[in-house]
Amino acid sequence: MQWETVIGLEVHVQLATRSKIFSGASTAFGAEPNTQACAVDLGLPGVLPVLNEAAVAMAVKFGLAIHAEIPEVSVFDRKNYFYPDLPKGYQTSQMYQPIVGAGEVEITLEDGTTKQIRVHHAHLEEDAGKSLHEDFHGMTGVDLNRAGTPLLEIVSEPDMRSAKEAAAYLKAIHSIVTYLGISDGNMAEGSMRCDVNVSVRPKGQEALGTRAEIKNVNSFRFVERAIAYEVERQIELLEDGGKVVQETRLFDPERDETRSMRTKEEANDYRYFPCPDLLPVVLDKAYIDHLRDNLPELPADKRTRFENELGLSAYDASVLSATREMADYFEEVKDVCGDAKQAANWVQGELSGALNRENLSIGNSPVSARQLGELVARVIDDTINGKAAKQVFQALWNGQGASADAIIEAQGLKQVTDTGAIEAMIDQVISESPAQVAQYRDAEPDKRGKMIGYFVGQVMKASRGTANPQQVNQLLKEKLDALC
Ligand code: ADP
Ligand code: MG
Repeated sequence: MQWETVIGLEVHVQLATRSKIFSGASTAFGAEPNTQACAVDLGLPGVLPVLNEAAVAMAVKFGLAIHAEIPEVSVFDRKNYFYPDLPKGYQTSQMYQPIVGAGEVEITLEDGTTKQIRVHHAHLEEDAGKSLHEDFHGMTGVDLNRAGTPLLEIVSEPDMRSAKEAAAYLKAIHSIVTYLGISDGNMAEGSMRCDVNVSVRPKGQEALGTRAEIKNVNSFRFVERAIAYEVERQIELLEDGGKVVQETRLFDPERDETRSMRTKEEANDYRYFPCPDLLPVVLDKAYIDHLRDNLPELPADKRTRFENELGLSAYDASVLSATREMADYFEEVKDVCGDAKQAANWVQGELSGALNRENLSIGNSPVSARQLGELVARVIDDTINGKAAKQVFQALWNGQGASADAIIEAQGLKQVTDTGAIEAMIDQVISESPAQVAQYRDAEPDKRGKMIGYFVGQVMKASRGTANPQQVNQLLKEKLDALC
């Protein structure tokens, strides 16, 4: 039996407002516990919420970015449940009339193909507080600082068919919200979390299978791993004649598995009703048009421009447009060196490698875009060869010089293209390597190509890496063959 995986995601994006969605309390991360929850966030008697306009604008911008309908009227509802980190006893959310209607997000897969994932709607809601288990023995601490922080919950249609597609979708959302500047997108701090709905069905069957919902997955990698585990679990269950039950599960990254949290029977009855303390939100056309006119260039448009105008491959264009920081950095390197392809290679190769090794984001790169652009320009105009360029990059990275030119000068890395100078080094190497020369001479002519590597290495070493490698190859071959 062939199985098909079906995935729908509910992504919670923390909006980057300075104050809470219904109060003036600060949303800053990392404050002392319980110093940033005010009477409104706690729902103390007699207080009234006031909607934060910045949160509304951010939600609408997202809607416009995914070409969604923006309804004229949206309404806040109360979702009632009891939990220690929910001080009001209900979460103010939007159940029936969300602020953003149906839209579409384009995802790019690793092979460069794209696919449209439909978004069912997106709604505004407030976050809850946080239960802290680690620092307390036999007790649970509650930090209410996060209570009332604005969230945009983006609910997809069940359009994804693999863990890779789900991760690509999450990356696309991350990229859109950070381009728009409506979220810092910091997953480690919980600024983006998602609930992953997973089911399987026999290939070709139209009806959806019963799903499990994996709560609160907070990294791209965990999304893939949780889905991989869950799909395998469901298929095994079905093939053994069992049934998938609709339930909420938790992903445990330590053990790489999902575990049941509660089944449908134990599910809460949220008793939704319109919040009597908040007016419906009414948006006029001028307000929406103003936001639309001021949207920045979005990732999908940037990717298309990188491909069509700069001639980058689909893959390069998608990697380089994934974050605004990355795209801005790349564009500056390209402008300084004047060659988009070389700029793309350096940003994705040497630079990304070094950033990954030291776990740095591109915004914290010790090598600035201007510095890298100037270095690439020196490769393009043949001032230095590829090997020296890597040395210069390392020196820039280590802060051993202010610019590529300064380092090339100080370390004497200028490429030697003077034939006479290269020939002198070749003659020296040949005279110091009688055994290797004899081997070369005795070898079959078609084996000699390989053996030349030794001599190239010696000459490059003698030149401290500065000789032009093509010239070294060419001249060496001529000289060695003349000895045979
Ligand atoms: P609820 O509000 O009860 O969580 P929804 O119908 O709103 O349920 O769906 C929530 C998410 O689950 C959506 O992203 C939707 O696409 C997804 N989903 C619904 N049914 C399935 C299914 N059978 N398999 C996978 N995902 C599903
Ligand atoms: Mg749900």
